[in-house]
Amino acid sequence: MAIRMDGIATAKTIRDEARRQAQALRKKGVKPRLAIILAGGDPASEIYVKNKLKDCEDCGIIGSLHRLPGDASQDDLLIQIARLNTDAAVHGILLQHPYPPGIDEFSVRSAISPDKDVDSLHPLNAGLIAHDRPHFLPGTPAGILALLDRYEIGAKGKHCVIVNRSHIVGKPMAQMMLARDATVTVCHSRTPDLGAFTRAADILMSAVGKAGLITGDMVKPGAVVIDVGITKRADGKLAGDVVFDDVEPVASYITPVPGGVGPMTRAILMKNTITAAVEATI
Ligand code: NAP
Repeated sequence: MAIRMDGIATAKTIRDEARRQAQALRKKGVKPRLAIILAGGDPASEIYVKNKLKDCEDCGIIGSLHRLPGDASQDDLLIQIARLNTDAAVHGILLQHPYPPGIDEFSVRSAISPDKDVDSLHPLNAGLIAHDRPHFLPGTPAGILALLDRYEIGAKGKHCVIVNRSHIVGKPMAQMMLARDATVTVCHSRTPDLGAFTRAADILMSAVGKAGLITGDMVKPGAVVIDVGITKRADGKLAGDVVFDDVEPVASYITPVPGGVGPMTRAILMKNTITAAVEATI
């Protein structure tokens, strides 16, 4: 039976450290601040943002919410980003996904000052990861690495299969696992026979958002299984991509949903905001 990887407890240790650093900054007269831009009223985003603001409060970071209407234009977003870029009291800027329809994601992400890009989506920060010189590490991949570290799971020489190729999960995760000397395979919606790839994984990461995608027969016995996907079930409860009861007897380690990767992603955001605030004082 797999060991359940506890994202809640591991995230708390990261937030505890962020809180200590926030206190030290405040003694120097610096109040760390994270600005979150939320365009529209997507119910899931509302919950994610509420949780991020709660984490800010827990860590002694000032969290400010900047709401834009659901039909906000590209210019509306760019103007809001420009204001926050030039506000010296703001150390971190996060543009909550999903963006309103018609927004060019690359343009708005590129508009955020790389020094305040605590989500690590600016092309400069993404490029630094590709060159093994990361500045800010993106929340979900960095949170997964912190979980692997907490459970002393090495990546060197392991075959890591990532089911996702997005800019926030799969692409940076692949680079970061390569930097740890894993052999990496990236799968996506056009991958034929997904199971043939997942069964070859020593470390399997799934971030699709499709409940029931990864079943026990798709997992190599003893594999580490990291479930990033989040979907809301009909009964209102959250589900991951992995059929937990099916995979738990096969895997060596497994992350639950909720309580696995989600809290880790948010904790890294706190850590990055503190880093940005520290760097602003130098
Ligand atoms: P996304 O941009 O939509 O990416 C989804 C990925 O899944 C894409 O690469 C897509 O392939 C691939 N995919 C879709 N159907 C597939 C299939 N049948 N077989 C294999 N691959 C398939 O979404 P995202 O923003 O990366 O998020 C992915 C999921 O992770 C969502 O459920 C999201 O809620 C969750 N998430 C959780 C956290 C957390 O902290 N726990 C953080 C971020 C995201 P294509 O590229 O070919 O379309």
